[in-house]
Amino acid sequence: MTARILNGNAIRDQIYGELAREIAALSAAGIRPGLAAVLVGENAASQIYVRSKIAACEQLGLGSWLHKPPATVTTEEMLALVEELNARDDVDGILVQLPLPARVDTKRVLEAVDPAKDVDGFHPVNLGRLVSGRAGLVACTPAGAMEILRRSGVALEGANAVVVGRSDIVGKPMALLLMHANATVTICHSKTRDLPGVVRQADIVVAAIGRAAMVEPDWVRPGATVIDVGINRITDAAEAQRIFAKFPAKLHQFQEKGSVLVGDVHPGLAEVAGAITPVPGGVGPLTIAMLMSNTVKAARLRRAHAVSIVLPGAVATKP
Ligand code: NAP
Repeated sequence: MTARILNGNAIRDQIYGELAREIAALSAAGIRPGLAAVLVGENAASQIYVRSKIAACEQLGLGSWLHKPPATVTTEEMLALVEELNARDDVDGILVQLPLPARVDTKRVLEAVDPAKDVDGFHPVNLGRLVSGRAGLVACTPAGAMEILRRSGVALEGANAVVVGRSDIVGKPMALLLMHANATVTICHSKTRDLPGVVRQADIVVAAIGRAAMVEPDWVRPGATVIDVGINRITDAAEAQRIFAKFPAKLHQFQEKGSVLVGDVHPGLAEVAGAITPVPGGVGPLTIAMLMSNTVKAARLRRAHAVSIVLPGAVATKP
């Protein structure tokens, strides 16, 4: 069997089309949704992520502001910046790019963000809303994974779903979203006994582990749907050879660039699964799309009630 590829770029474009209509309706009412990003220090990966988030805002015509405190910033200074952004009416979403320097109290900073502007969905108030199935701002990566499943017509009700990983930003919210969609959910982690055996029971597998190509083809029931959240950069030639032995195009890419991306799922899984997200081009594009969606949603919830406008169908990030 060769799996159907669940193309995240195509689904992102579909969502952007829907958001563009909603943004136009807000704009007609004098509201321009805006995102403020806070990027501390010179972390190369963080810079790339924030740049692509700002670029997405510009593409969609959202307002965006980039705040770049120095790496020496203190917790108190970060709290003061968050307070300033909380108070601004034109800022609908606040994004604090992680990781923050070890000296800064990350939890305190994230909890200082106004839950109505918490477009990352990390605030305990929004996590609580998700637990109890109430509308709120949902973490972008799991919300994006749900969009892939829903828009690809994957049956969720009654399905056995296995989520590997229990982080606050991916695994836990993913499991809750699947449960609210009436899947029967199992959450696995580093202490799970017989992980391959548990994964083999799944109709839907979500891998959010942070370990390159860990989920092997023989772990997965033929025909299962696989969502690969992992993004791992391989820079070691022997590892690239081991993972991509049967994928000459990827090996060629490695030889040309000196690195190649792989998910948490082995690429050979595409011969066993019924449907699978690629890496790159699967969940990644949806994470940014859902950040845009959350920013528009935050603007609508916080500001649109003041004016009388009719909005086209909003993108669903509902639990
Ligand atoms: P994380 O906070 O490091 O959590 C990893 C989880 O995997 C933990 O729950 C851990 O279990 C579990 N785990 C680690 N080794 C395991 C093993 N050998 N067997 C079973 N479970 C194991 O990572 P994260 O932030 O959730 O991210 C997960 C992956 O998603 C990473 O590759 C990250 O780069 C990627 N990611 C992608 C996007 C995107 O936009 N596509 C966004 C966010 C993250 P314990 O709890 O027991 O330690």
